[in-house]
Amino acid sequence: MSRAAEKQVNIIGAGLAGALLAVLLARRGLAVTLYERRPDPRQARPERGRSINLALAARGIHALERAGVMQRVRPLMIAMRGRMVHERSGASALQPYGQREHEVIYSVGRADLNRVLIDEALRHPNVTVRFNQQCTGVDARLNQLRLRDAASGAQYGLELAPAIATDGAGSAVRASLAADGLATVREQWLDHDYKELTVPPVAGRPALEAHALHIWPRGGFMLIALPNTDASFTATLFLARAGAQGFACLDGGAAVERFFAEQFPDAVPLLPHLVEEFAQHPQGQLGTVHTAPWHLEGKVLLLGDAAHAIVPFHGQGMNAAFEDCRVLDELLDRHQDWGTLFAELERARRPNTEAIAQMALENYIEMRDTVLDARFVRLKGLAMALERRFPEHFIPRYSMVMFHPEITYAEAQRRGAVQAQLLDELDPGEGTGPDLSRAEQLIRERLPPIGC
Ligand SMILES: Cc1cc2nc3c(=O)[nH]c(=O)nc-3n(C[C@H](O)[C@H](O)[C@H](O)COP(=O)(O)OP(=O)(O)OC[C@H]3O[C@@H](n4cnc5c(N)ncnc54)[C@H](O)[C@@H]3O)c2cc1C
Repeated sequence: MSRAAEKQVNIIGAGLAGALLAVLLARRGLAVTLYERRPDPRQARPERGRSINLALAARGIHALERAGVMQRVRPLMIAMRGRMVHERSGASALQPYGQREHEVIYSVGRADLNRVLIDEALRHPNVTVRFNQQCTGVDARLNQLRLRDAASGAQYGLELAPAIATDGAGSAVRASLAADGLATVREQWLDHDYKELTVPPVAGRPALEAHALHIWPRGGFMLIALPNTDASFTATLFLARAGAQGFACLDGGAAVERFFAEQFPDAVPLLPHLVEEFAQHPQGQLGTVHTAPWHLEGKVLLLGDAAHAIVPFHGQGMNAAFEDCRVLDELLDRHQDWGTLFAELERARRPNTEAIAQMALENYIEMRDTVLDARFVRLKGLAMALERRFPEHFIPRYSMVMFHPEITYAEAQRRGAVQAQLLDELDPGEGTGPDLSRAEQLIRERLPPIGC
């Protein structure tokens, strides 16, 4: 057994990444203690203010499979085969995500998934979860993790090494490393916020097509909706914080009703509690976090959102966090000490999380603006035709990110840029088909077979 595997590991934050990581480490026989700020989510109601459901895709599934938890996760998943685009006129059309039966993404409830993962972690006798324990930072000089018990308010310290911080986008561990000059952190806040609303079932049945991710793109902003297992949908409005068409103007029930009636008339009947929910539900912020380094010797490692929070428009934040956990688990086969392991993990992952951070920002423009564009739809069709014809060379970028965990995010971004240029050159225009022999020549010149 490696030296790493002989040790006790502290994980800060029993959210999605922390709980999955605990399962993976416990399966290796490590002794794991999770410290979680919230009460046990298996007993308490989930806290509001985070997305209620999420899109789970192949990278996340691959990590969940490695942890042996898919049997319990599968019943939580609802397949979404494509984007159902709702125009202002009320017309809607499905744009499939992929072109093979398995090329779908899944809506999954955050709270249910988190409960299952914590439950699975606790099936291992070598895992302990300490709820209501808030980490307030690390003290590298004293080699201490600082914690506070929520019930008594008592503060205490624990030996640091090794601590893996999966305490999310607002990570206290990251903040304390930055405050001590041990990490450089750049937070880029979007000037758009989000608010979640409920589309309840109608007579017990989903009010919208259940196997799709619904989008009402309006250029500059959008409403989306993902299905839940109780036949409801969670709708999310993404909108500028300020300006004439921003949250700041929606300052009362009448303004909210007017805005929805103008922009999303077909969604209004689906949102019977619009005004109350708009007033009560929090307005969430969105941003990208860039951190370097992610680790401090073999003592501390930042993972998941704590290291690299991203905007949600590619549906990849959780998937990337799960992929971090899988890669860490794989590295444990090869590395003997935490210092090397943490450094290797950052080396392997940071270029990839930087790539998905950028692609996620680009996808906001695609979702809210370009999905309605005739040229976008035409090039998407062309990309799928090229994938069918040259599957070893050409896979649409969206598919590489969502359905191909064997292709890294950085590789998907790099090939995606070459492909975008190629599609531009091959665009047949309205009403004509592509020149496939030219396509073949360009593809062979510029796109080596995937994996070579
Ligand atoms: C609106 C929205 C939609 C999203 N949609 C998607 C999607 O469709 N697909 C996708 O893949 N990703 C999506 N994401 C991103 C996804 O939510 C995150 O990437 C994912 O939750 C990261 O997991 P994590 O474990 O790193 O952090 P979290 O899930 O945030 O978990 C952090 C945990 O740490 C705990 N904690 C925090 N601070 C402390 C502390 N000081 N001490 C102790 N415990 C602490 C928290 O209570 C929590 O349990 C979305 C995000 C948002 C905001």
